[in-house]
Amino acid sequence: MSPDERSQYQEMGGDIREILFSAQQIQDRIQALGDQITQDYRGKDLLVIGVLKGVTFFIADLLRAIHLPLEVDFLAVASYSAEARNQGLVRLVKDLETPINGRDVLFVEDMVDTGLTLNYLLRSLRMRQPASLQVCTLFNKPARRLIDTPIKYVGFDLPDLFVVGYGLDFRERYRNLPFVGILKAQALQKAGKNSAG
Ligand code: 5GP
Repeated sequence: MSPDERSQYQEMGGDIREILFSAQQIQDRIQALGDQITQDYRGKDLLVIGVLKGVTFFIADLLRAIHLPLEVDFLAVASYSAEARNQGLVRLVKDLETPINGRDVLFVEDMVDTGLTLNYLLRSLRMRQPASLQVCTLFNKPARRLIDTPIKYVGFDLPDLFVVGYGLDFRERYRNLPFVGILKAQALQKAGKNSAG
């Protein structure tokens, strides 16, 4: 752990049980993804699309690791009930500002878990007839997948664990941790008591 990480770790009240990926490990992997994407998209009309808001940390670093001219746009989806989520229902609350037909689209996610959100969004994007559509996710949980979704670029595969940090939240907290880790059971319970629902 770097001195910065240690201080942020302590300020979060030691809510983290274990650090899975340090800030340096995350940056190294993103550089490698950026190199690969730079090679694959040379000469193409690249439009990178992210889903707010967990992806903002990852996409900011990934875009700077891609050494090509590109454009970026964002979608936002509503938080949904567990029931709706299990059926793969997602409500788009912010649409793209850029038309994507004929563009080479790289869709960037922070996490693919069951794959239901991604599947829904990809179906909606395909209807707009991009020239190509590929997916890049920082984290992937293959063991949790309910629907098969093709992912070209994967940062890290994860086991079936709930993680926070580097954009990933628990009840809107912990996004600003520079590393990714697992919360202590007490932190999950404490948030449960403090939360209105
Ligand atoms: P999916 O539709 O693939 O099941 O859901 C993906 C979304 O679930 C992610 O974008 C993220 O918001 C949330 N998610 C899934 N696993 C985790 C996790 O381990 N930690 C956090 N913070 N969010 C997760």
